[in-house]
Amino acid sequence: MRTCHLCWKRLAAKWSVNCGEPTPSPIPSLLTGLEHDDPLDNIPGLWFKKDGEVHSGGYAEPVDIESMPLPAFDIVDLERYFALDPPWHFPKSKRVVQFGTSRGCPFNCSYCHHIHGKKARLMSAEKVVSQIETLYNKHKVREIIVIDDIFNVNLERAKNICKGLIEKNMKLSIQFPNGLRGDIFDDELMRLLKKAGTHYIAVAIETSSDRLQKLIRKNLKIERALQTVATAKKYGIEVGGFFMIGFPSETKEEVKKTIDLAINNPFDIAFFSIVAPYEGTELRRDILNGHFGEEARAALKANPDEEFPVFYNPDLTREMLIKMRMFGYIRFYTKPARTFNLIKKMYRLVYIKQIIRAIYRRLIFSKTVSVS
Ligand code: SF4
Repeated sequence: MRTCHLCWKRLAAKWSVNCGEPTPSPIPSLLTGLEHDDPLDNIPGLWFKKDGEVHSGGYAEPVDIESMPLPAFDIVDLERYFALDPPWHFPKSKRVVQFGTSRGCPFNCSYCHHIHGKKARLMSAEKVVSQIETLYNKHKVREIIVIDDIFNVNLERAKNICKGLIEKNMKLSIQFPNGLRGDIFDDELMRLLKKAGTHYIAVAIETSSDRLQKLIRKNLKIERALQTVATAKKYGIEVGGFFMIGFPSETKEEVKKTIDLAINNPFDIAFFSIVAPYEGTELRRDILNGHFGEEARAALKANPDEEFPVFYNPDLTREMLIKMRMFGYIRFYTKPARTFNLIKKMYRLVYIKQIIRAIYRRLIFSKTVSVS
């Protein structure tokens, strides 16, 4: 939830009443600390930067999400929230909120964060359905943006959530812009997702190279993931694809293949990110341990503060990579079906602005990088 427009002081007072701190979440302590001008350094689970220094109270105990109440939506002016620019992927309804049904991910992709831990903590299907039902009936929410790391990590639970939502017969739209694991899917799950109201999913492929899939420990079964994309299209669900280019040791040929894979499969949207081995990731540790070879290690050591550092292959300079990404986007979106699809989305001013911003960031200001 975006709280930037809200008054945290009022929230602090109300939060302690409404939530009663049932979990070790740092939010109530943060709000209370802000209200009383207390130091915030000792709050587990809270990291912040002050005068250029990082402060933290260390990791908090993982929360038991099954016992957590629904966030206190009744103390938020939801009408103001709904009036903000919609987040994520072109929601069908203005009455949209983000919702997490799980925390954590058991996979070990080396470029990824560990914020929620390496064990998936899943809310039961019954609880997910009942919380969404409350959002629908009490707060008139009409679209849910699922922000789990991997909603489908347990196929049966994912199906049971869909079945529960279908039984409630709500007129709900759902989207999964944060990425689903493309190789944990079957036809039945896709059919149920569609029936429950899903209009968009994102699938994280990252690289088309099996060699790199192993090196970055993603180990995605690419063929199965592409089958998932095709199945989604069969059910009329839009699909976004996450792709990363510029891994240490990646060749120009491998980058081209990844971009071609995006273009030649029925993705509606593509995100090409340039790899940034952030501090604290396994990827950074792997590079510094020589997992990708001596050249990559030396290059990162020579430029430790560069966000999107150094590209380790003399045949693939940073400028080349940025150009390949730019032309990748142009080739991807100039396929008539995709151009038409984007034009179709321009029925709201806010979406026109979103598309222009995306074009600016990806083509004109294409130095910007991000990891998916
Ligand atoms: S990238 Fe996705 S699958 Fe991989 S560790 Fe992160 S959340 Fe899990």
